[in-house]
Amino acid sequence: MEANKKYFSAQLMAWHANENERSLPWKSEQDPYKIWLSEVILQQTRALQGLPYYLAFTEAYPTVRDMAAAADEEAFRLWQGLGYYNRCKNMLATARHISSNLGGVFPKTYEEILALKGIGPYTAAAIASFAYRLPHAVVDGNVYRVLARYFGIDAPFDTTAGKKSFSELAQELLDKKNSGAYNQAIMDLGATVCTPRNTRCEECPLQKKCVAYNQGLIDVLPVRSKKQTVRTRYFNYLLLKCDGKIWIHKRTDSDIWGNLHEPYLIETEQPLTAISLLNSSKFKNLHIQNFKINFEGRTTQRLTHQLINFNFFSINLEKKITIHNVNGIWLNANDLKKIAFPKTLVSFLKNNLYF
Ligand code: SF4
Repeated sequence: MEANKKYFSAQLMAWHANENERSLPWKSEQDPYKIWLSEVILQQTRALQGLPYYLAFTEAYPTVRDMAAAADEEAFRLWQGLGYYNRCKNMLATARHISSNLGGVFPKTYEEILALKGIGPYTAAAIASFAYRLPHAVVDGNVYRVLARYFGIDAPFDTTAGKKSFSELAQELLDKKNSGAYNQAIMDLGATVCTPRNTRCEECPLQKKCVAYNQGLIDVLPVRSKKQTVRTRYFNYLLLKCDGKIWIHKRTDSDIWGNLHEPYLIETEQPLTAISLLNSSKFKNLHIQNFKINFEGRTTQRLTHQLINFNFFSINLEKKITIHNVNGIWLNANDLKKIAFPKTLVSFLKNNLYF
C-alpha cells in the first residue's frame, strides 16, 4: 500500500509535467480572486461551458472590488445560463465583504478562506494551494473517482465516514511542496482521463498499479451509499400580457433560480391540462374574466436532482390586474432583455420573439 501511494503521487506529477495538455485560462493563475471566480463557476459546470462565463466576469470585474461594486441585476445577467444562482448571490456577498471589511485583500490562510460565505473545503483548498502554495488537498468528484479506482476502495464516498477517509487519503498523497501542481494534476486526470464513462485507461499514468483497471472494477467504482433520486416538477407559466407589457416577478431564495425573474407560475406535482389550470386556486387568485387562454409550447430541463417540465400559456388582458400576495410588476416587453431569467425562460422568450 505505501509503495502504491508513492507511485501514485510520483506518476501523477510526472504526467502533469510532461503529458497533461489541458489548457484553460485559469490554470497557473495566482490571483486568489480569479481562482475563486473560476472555482465558483466550475461547481456543477463543465470547464468548456464555464469558460465564456469566466472570461465575461473577469472582463467586467477584473478585481474583487469591481465585483463588489457591481449591481446585482447586472451580475445575474452575466451568470444567466449557469444555473445554481445562489452561487452568484454568495459570490457577490463575499466580494462585498472582502471589499468592505478586509480592505479588498483576499484572505491568505485556509481557515480564513473557508470562513467566507459560499466557500467550502474544496474551493478553500484550491485557492490556498493555487494562490499561496499551502498544503491542502482538493477533494471533489474527480478526486473520489481517481482514488476509489486506483486504490480499489469500495466504501461509499458520500457518507460522513467516507468523506473523512477519502479526505485523509488525499491529504496524505498530496505533494506538500507542490500542492498547487498536484491538485491541478489530480483534477485534470479525473476530468480528462479517469472520466465517469469512456475512461481512457490506455493513456493513464496510473494504469500499471490501478486496482480498478487490473480487476475489471472501473464500472463499479466509486460507490455511492444510495441512489440519487430525481424530483419531477411541473412549471406551468402563464404569460399575462396587456398593452405591450408582461407581468413578471422575482423568485425567492428558497428554491432553484432564486432572485431570477419569471412570469406567473402555477406549479404542480402532476401534468396539468389547460382546463385543470383554469380550475386551480392559483389561477382563480388572478380574478380575471372574459379571457382567451393560448397554449404556447412545452419543454423540459434536467437539473442534477430535478426534472422540470415547462408548459407555457398566454392570456391577453384588456386591463392590467394586481395579483394578491405576489410581488410582481408589469414590464415593457422591450425591457425583458435587461432582466435575468432562468435559461429555459430566456430561450422561450427569445424563440417567441418577446425579445
Ligand atoms: S487506469 Fe483507468 S481506472 Fe485506473 S486511474 Fe487510470 S483511468 Fe482511472
